[in-house]
Amino acid sequence: FTIPEPVNEPGLNYGPHSVERAMLKKALEEARAQEVDLPMYIGGKEVRTENKIAIRPPHDHKHILGYFSEGDGGHVNEAIKEALAAKEAWENLAWEQRAAIFLKAAELIAGPYRYKINAATMLGQSKNAYQAEIDSACELIDFLRFNVAYMSEIYAQQPASGKGVWNRLEQRPLEGFVFALTPFNFTAIAGNLPASAAMMGNVVVWKPAYPQAYAANVIMQVFKEAGLPDGVINLIYVDGPVAGEVIFNHPDFAGIHFTGSTKVFQTIWQTIGNNIHKYKAYPRIVGETGGKDFILAHQSANPDVVATAIVRGAFEYQGQKCSAASRAYLPKSLWPAIQEKVLDDLQSIKMGPVEDFSNFVNAVITEQSFDKLAKYIDAAKADADVEIIAGGNYDKSVGYFIEPTIIKVKDPKYITMCEELFGPVLTVYIYEDEAFEQIMEVIDTTSPYALTGSIISTDRYAIEKATYKLRNAAGNFYVNDKPTGAVVGQQPFGGARGSGTNDKAGSMINLLRWVSPRTIKETF
Ligand code: GLU
Repeated sequence: FTIPEPVNEPGLNYGPHSVERAMLKKALEEARAQEVDLPMYIGGKEVRTENKIAIRPPHDHKHILGYFSEGDGGHVNEAIKEALAAKEAWENLAWEQRAAIFLKAAELIAGPYRYKINAATMLGQSKNAYQAEIDSACELIDFLRFNVAYMSEIYAQQPASGKGVWNRLEQRPLEGFVFALTPFNFTAIAGNLPASAAMMGNVVVWKPAYPQAYAANVIMQVFKEAGLPDGVINLIYVDGPVAGEVIFNHPDFAGIHFTGSTKVFQTIWQTIGNNIHKYKAYPRIVGETGGKDFILAHQSANPDVVATAIVRGAFEYQGQKCSAASRAYLPKSLWPAIQEKVLDDLQSIKMGPVEDFSNFVNAVITEQSFDKLAKYIDAAKADADVEIIAGGNYDKSVGYFIEPTIIKVKDPKYITMCEELFGPVLTVYIYEDEAFEQIMEVIDTTSPYALTGSIISTDRYAIEKATYKLRNAAGNFYVNDKPTGAVVGQQPFGGARGSGTNDKAGSMINLLRWVSPRTIKETF
């Protein structure tokens, strides 16, 4: 049995008049026309409740796409029970058979489900067609294919044996169930967090963020159609604290695979710590959390390269990637040229609903997020030491729209330079060209996070210097590029410090967290 050499799924081109655009538009229309009634999936069964929550596109929040059923603590308990009931058969399946299910899921997404999953992501999470394609199609497919290949390498690794001694490493799944908690911003992450743990023989209870309910449901349909046995992954829509109360008090809780906010992750870690005596084993805690990702330009940089990194890095998907650039440090000598190009580019960017394919910027995810961003923008407007050099307007009458906004500050420790905003707001600080060394010190010490960052320079010495001096400031470091858009199999993704446990999504490092190896020595 050989696993196919994984290749990155190429993105479809949704250009005007293309068949692909027509197909995607059709999927969007279908999704809008039908009023879905999305169930949870517990033990393979569709579970609906009386408590229906409306699904509304963030760019058109008066429209209701349908509903999903919210469950309670009883459903969480049920999901754990079903997961544990499925455990023995699942872990005893040959790993090649588990691999085949996830490879099949990748093919279903690449083929028959592609437009459906993209449409669900576009409407539910307000992602434009290009951003949906690179997420819910390409990246999700890549996660499945590459992880299957890494999995085969993990199972192939065996210790040395000698005359009369046979040593084996058995990669046992964790004893208990894994809890996957997934964020609204990436459908690929929604699929990857439960799938990577399940692939290694674990059973999973999966709770997506509510704005992701729609796309998560499509993923679950794909897993089922690919042949995933009932109960291996259980999808529940339950309020976070309600789910946590049951999960973290359960003796069979074996690990958490998390992407989301730093605050929630820290609370979870603390809860797990407080309950540690209740569990059979030390739970695996794997999390990717916040970021305050930076772009540093050196005086040798090409201003056009800096401008593109800023516009794409800060404003694609409304700045709601954990990796999005949210602070930039630009040399005084280049600032006029960078500013001109950025403002020029922003002029040509359109904002609006995802159904109009010419919109680059869509809505932010929720009213809560909108209000928080508006507050930061208002505070910046009222501060005499701060200048809004682009955007600054917002409107939530139809959708949660915030213009791509650039704030220029005199104080490199201004609040929006330090705190994670998670929206289309970039703060820039202009430094004296000679202060390149000092500015790296500032970057390194300004925020508690260390997820992504970029150096933009044509000077080899400056690139090397920044790569070294900022070695702890980012888990993904980019030279002459924007800090977003890590590709599975090429740039394993994850950060340290306040940004997470850095168990690189889509890598062997991550998969190894979902096994508990047993060494077996046999003598003859
Ligand atoms: N992997 C994504 C990127 O490189 C970010 C993932 C996230 O937002 O959690 O842009």
